[in-house]
Amino acid sequence: MRFASFRHPDSGVLSVGVVRDDTVFDITEVLAATRSADVPSPMRCLIHEYGSVRGVLEDVSSWASSWPLSDVALEVPVPDPSKVVAAPVNYVDHKVEMSAQSQIDHLGVFLKAPSSLLAPGGTVRLPYVDRRFDQEGELAVVIGRQASQVSEADAAEYVFGYTCLLDITMRGGEDRSTRKSFDTFTPMGPWIVTPDEFGDPSRRFLKCSVSGVTRQRASFGDLIWSVPRLVAYVSSVMTLYVGDVITTGTPAGVGALTDGDQIVVEIDGIGPLAVSVSAQGADRCPTLGATSGPVPPPTVAPAAP
Ligand code: MN
Repeated sequence: MRFASFRHPDSGVLSVGVVRDDTVFDITEVLAATRSADVPSPMRCLIHEYGSVRGVLEDVSSWASSWPLSDVALEVPVPDPSKVVAAPVNYVDHKVEMSAQSQIDHLGVFLKAPSSLLAPGGTVRLPYVDRRFDQEGELAVVIGRQASQVSEADAAEYVFGYTCLLDITMRGGEDRSTRKSFDTFTPMGPWIVTPDEFGDPSRRFLKCSVSGVTRQRASFGDLIWSVPRLVAYVSSVMTLYVGDVITTGTPAGVGALTDGDQIVVEIDGIGPLAVSVSAQGADRCPTLGATSGPVPPPTVAPAAP
């Protein structure tokens, strides 16, 4: 199944729906948890209650209000995760293009601020005129059950679903949590696809284009740490809560973004996730990391077909 967060077209209330073809069915009413406030979000309530409401969702078209997808404003699928965990250097080809000496085995994971999340169709705002910012198209995992010390063999039971994510990044020597946590630097969506529909991620593919040029193509079979290994490892470091996001890292093809760019991430079976880029209001950077840190490729080469 596919689940989206959206604003109710009449009331503007944050809602959750099943997406089928070009229609969204509002299922917010079947959730038991209070919905008077937006915290926790209806999506997190759904994930909590998925086991008990799954049956009634099968024939959702017979009882739920619905709208054409084009008539609703999609929100970040999980608008309020307790954390967004991210994998650095998790593809060999990206390690090579960054001239990196280490990969995820050496680095572990890092955190992106949840406040950096951006809804589908939103605008990535570049904060500085004198720094380079790159796109990183990635597959993200949404956690379905509280997870601590989970084994790799059991990891699949803790995955609620998959979605597209952009890990927008300022290049340089500042800490990753700074460079990747500016507001709007984590576009996510357009919806979550459950594992029964998505299947084995290692058989799926990603394509990321910027202003019509395909920069990244990858198979998730090329992840250095697979999804189960990532879930197991992260759960050995920190307790994962319902709705937490783990983003799996980016393949080769990162490149600089400029004002007016359009970024599209497509994962077969999910996407596309599309956002635009604006440098309006950008200022000079107050930190001095521009000439240190990992060195990105100087020019953008279109990905091979
Ligand atoms: Mn990344």
